[in-house]
Amino acid sequence: RIDIVSQGCCFYSEEMEQSYVLKKQYFALIKNALTDDSLVALYQPIVDASNGKLKAVEALMRINGEDGKLISPNDFIPLAEESRLIIPLGEKMIELVLAQLKHWIDDGLAPRVCINISAIQFRDPSFVPFLVEALKQYKVNPHYIELEVTESLMIQDMDNVMMDMKKLHELGITISIDDFGTGFSCLSYLKDLPVDVLKIDKSFVSQLSSDISQDVLVKTIVTLAQSLNLTSVAEGVETAEQVDILRQIGASCLQGFYFSPPVLAVEIKDKYTI
Ligand code: C2E
Ligand code: CA
Ligand code: CA
Ligand code: CA
Repeated sequence: RIDIVSQGCCFYSEEMEQSYVLKKQYFALIKNALTDDSLVALYQPIVDASNGKLKAVEALMRINGEDGKLISPNDFIPLAEESRLIIPLGEKMIELVLAQLKHWIDDGLAPRVCINISAIQFRDPSFVPFLVEALKQYKVNPHYIELEVTESLMIQDMDNVMMDMKKLHELGITISIDDFGTGFSCLSYLKDLPVDVLKIDKSFVSQLSSDISQDVLVKTIVTLAQSLNLTSVAEGVETAEQVDILRQIGASCLQGFYFSPPVLAVEIKDKYTI
């Protein structure tokens, strides 16, 4: 419903009002998460496709809402990026993850942890120094860290991005391209940047078997990864049939609800102690 407020071009709708109210709520939520303990990291297992063993976990951000429900990053990350609060929020997430990783390492469970980094966060000049300092402070070997970035990072300012990526890579950090194939970017960055992993987007994986042309897409990405000596990770794996197809195609690692949803850190330890 749209009410014409004035003769001019001023429109007002309940939907606009609602989205404004929601935005204000999410903004307050993000602000609070920077200072209280409502920021939560869940972890989703990534397994070796050949034997199902735990290879890594992906850290996924949540905010604990007032009603005790965990709020999905899809609801607040766009606003966090728009307001640049993703920078302090991302820093806090890194600290949470490193503290957890330190516990796991001390307990003899040492999975690699993948951390999502928004392009805005990666591009900020404070990012690399912050990460380097945090690794020192938490006494975590950079080999345990994998950074997931999206192709949106590759569309501008490549010189700086390349410099920072090389620096991180030289420290031993793994770099992966998240949602690979959805970014409409030119693939030439793959030969210039120190990329180690391609994560095949779940929109491709979810179509497997029902649609043979999706098999071709996934197969092509896996083959590309193989020929560039990269690891391929299929995300959003939900069914045994998808597991079968992905194994046949030769994907290196699998991640999805079929194996486990994102869970609290304690559950990772229970399930996967080696
Ligand atoms: P993403 O990085 O592509 O993460 C994968 C998303 O797919 C996660 O949603 C995960 O819970 C979900 N997922 C995993 N397995 C399955 C499955 O089998 N089926 C389906 N349908 N979904 C599955 P989540 O946790 O809601 O995160 C959404 C997005 O928010 C992430 O997408 C990522 O882009 C962003 N995000 C999450 N945590 C962070 C963070 O710490 N920093 C930044 N910058 N972004 C984050
Ligand atoms: Ca990711
Ligand atoms: Ca993804
Ligand atoms: Ca995504």
